[in-house]
Amino acid sequence: MYLKRLELMGFKSFANRTELEFVPGVTAVVGPNGSGKSNISDSIRWVLGEQSAKTLRGSKMEDIIFAGSDTRKPVNYCEVALTLDNSDHTLKIDYTEVTIARRVYRSGESEYFINKRTCRLRDIIELFMDTGVGKEAYSIIGQGRIEEILSTKSDDRRGIFEEASGIVKYKARKKEAEKKIDETEANLVRIADIISEIT
Ligand code: ATP
Repeated sequence: MYLKRLELMGFKSFANRTELEFVPGVTAVVGPNGSGKSNISDSIRWVLGEQSAKTLRGSKMEDIIFAGSDTRKPVNYCEVALTLDNSDHTLKIDYTEVTIARRVYRSGESEYFINKRTCRLRDIIELFMDTGVGKEAYSIIGQGRIEEILSTKSDDRRGIFEEASGIVKYKARKKEAEKKIDETEANLVRIADIISEIT
């Protein structure tokens, strides 16, 4: 699996629709300070489901929508689409090319898509779980992150290894199952109460 294409529209400094094509191997993005290099990695993080404006170097989510310039009016929504080559079927989906997209309006309304079909954020997170790609995965290492990883708490460091070894999916499912068991147990208690009231 590799990152094939990134399309940005209205995302941060990318007011116009901008398409970046990647080929297998190493790609370097170069440019002067403030030209938008980090905005590209922010867009990848965001389309993978990032919910924290701070992580995207803003104070609120609206900050990721092009805010206007001397020559251009602000836009009302932004969209990012990320296309991955999935010919090796790393992503457990029946497509050799997978495009995930996210759109957000100034009103705060957000939409997610997998291969142009509307989906939930959860579907995107599950699709990438344990693949090494994802907003929390080690595939995006931001400035200063390496030091953070080294100095971080051992529990957090363990999380990185868990993602790398591919067990996060099972841990998430276990958590969900435990939640369901708790809910079911609470329901059983309620039923027992009702039975004792009517008998
Ligand atoms: P450096 O090399 O200094 O790290 P960079 O190339 O990584 O710089 P970025 O941090 O990606 O640059 O981009 C910063 C630019 O993006 C700034 O000029 C900023 O004004 C612009 N920018 C960020 N958010 C928005 C927005 N919502 N609307 C318009 N422009 C924005």
